[in-house]
Amino acid sequence: MQRTLIRNARLFDSEHARFVPGTTVVIEGERIVEVTQERREAPAAAVIDAGGRALLPGLIDAHVHVVAASHDLVGLAMQPVSLVGAEASRIMRDMLHRGFTTVRDAAGADQGLQEAQQRGLYAGPRLFIAGFPISQTGGHADMRPRGVRTRELFCACAGLGLVGAIADGVGEVRRAVREQVRTGANQVKIMAGGGISSPSDPLEGTQFSLEELRAAVEEAEAANLYAMAHAYSPRAVTRAVQAGVRSIEHGNLIDEATARVMKEHGAYLVPTLSTYAALAAEGERLGWSHAMLDKLEMVKGRGIEAVRIARAVGVPVAFGTDLLGHMHGQQNGEFVIRQQVQPPLEVLQGATWTAARLMRQESHIGRIAVGAWADLLVVDGELERDLAPLTQPGQSIRLLMQGGRRVIDRLG
Ligand SMILES: [Zn+2]
Repeated sequence: MQRTLIRNARLFDSEHARFVPGTTVVIEGERIVEVTQERREAPAAAVIDAGGRALLPGLIDAHVHVVAASHDLVGLAMQPVSLVGAEASRIMRDMLHRGFTTVRDAAGADQGLQEAQQRGLYAGPRLFIAGFPISQTGGHADMRPRGVRTRELFCACAGLGLVGAIADGVGEVRRAVREQVRTGANQVKIMAGGGISSPSDPLEGTQFSLEELRAAVEEAEAANLYAMAHAYSPRAVTRAVQAGVRSIEHGNLIDEATARVMKEHGAYLVPTLSTYAALAAEGERLGWSHAMLDKLEMVKGRGIEAVRIARAVGVPVAFGTDLLGHMHGQQNGEFVIRQQVQPPLEVLQGATWTAARLMRQESHIGRIAVGAWADLLVVDGELERDLAPLTQPGQSIRLLMQGGRRVIDRLG
C-alpha cells in the first residue's frame, strides 16, 4: 500500500481550534494512520516537507447546490438532465480546487452525481445529498409562477434542479421524505419558512404545520438520517428546532431567545453570508423582481448579526455558502465575511470539525486524525490572524490531497 509522510507541518487541530507546529502525518492508502510530534523515519514512503506551513483537514462546505449552474432555478429545471449533470461536474471540480474535499448538498444533487464522483469519473468533493427539497404548496421550493395552476408542472417530475417535492399534509410529507430516502438521500431538506428566490412566500412566514415538520423529522430519523431546515425568522426557526430539525439553514433573523432554543435542542446554525453579498452586487442585473430584492435587503444586514448571537449563546456554527450560477466563484469569500464576528480559527473550525459533527462524519472527515480519510491541504499564510489567503486558493493552496491522492501539488 502507498505510504506517504508529511512532515514539518503546522497542523490545524480542528477539535480545539489551534495550530500544533512540528507535526508529522503518516498516510497509508486512503487513510491517516499516524499523527505525531516525534521524528519519524519512513523507509519506502513518499516524503513531503510542508516547510512549516499550515496543514488543514480538507474543507467542508455544509450548504451548497452543485446543480445550481444558473441562478434561474425554473429555467434550470427545464434543461436536459445530462446538461445539468455536466455543469454540476464542473462546479464540483472547481469546489475541490478551492479546498473543499467534502460538501453537503442542500438539495438538488442526486445519487448519480455522488456515485460518479466516488467512481472517479470526475474530480470533486465527497458529496452528501438531500435529493429534492420538500416544500408545501406555495412554499420556498414551489417555483411555479403565479400564472401556473396545474400541480404537476415544476413539481418533482421536473429534471435535476432545485424545484421541490411538493407535499401537503402529514401523509404526503411522509411519502416525500421516504421518496428521498429511497433515492439515496444522506439528509433531508425541508422548507420551514419563506425564502428569497421563490415567488410567492413572505420571508417572515412559517411553512408546514408542526405535525408536518415532526413527520418529516420522524421519517428522516427512521432511516437514521436527520433533517435540515431552511428558515429565516425566529418563529420559523423555533418551530423547526422544536420539531427536531438538526440544522437551521440561513437563520438570518434569529434573536437571542431563538438562539437559546437552538442551543437547548442541540441544533446547528449554517449561515450562508456570501450568497447575500453576491446577490446584493448582482440581483438587479440578474433580473430579480422587486419583491425578491426587498426580501434580500431584509436579510443581508442581519446575517452577520445572527452569527454573533448564535456564537455568544453557544450554538455551533458551521460553514455554508449557498451560491448559484457564476457566483460560485465567491465561495471562499465566506471565510473573510465571518471574521467580522468570529476569530479566524473559529471560522476554520466551522468548515472542518463543526461541519463534520453536524453531518455525523467526524470520524472520517473534518480533522486530521488516525482513521480519518487523508483529505488535507497545505496552505500558505498566517491563518491564525487572517483567512484572506484562502480567498486566493490558486496561490495559497500548495498541496491538496483527497483520500490520499494528490489533487494539487505546488510544493515544488
Ligand atoms: Zn440553499
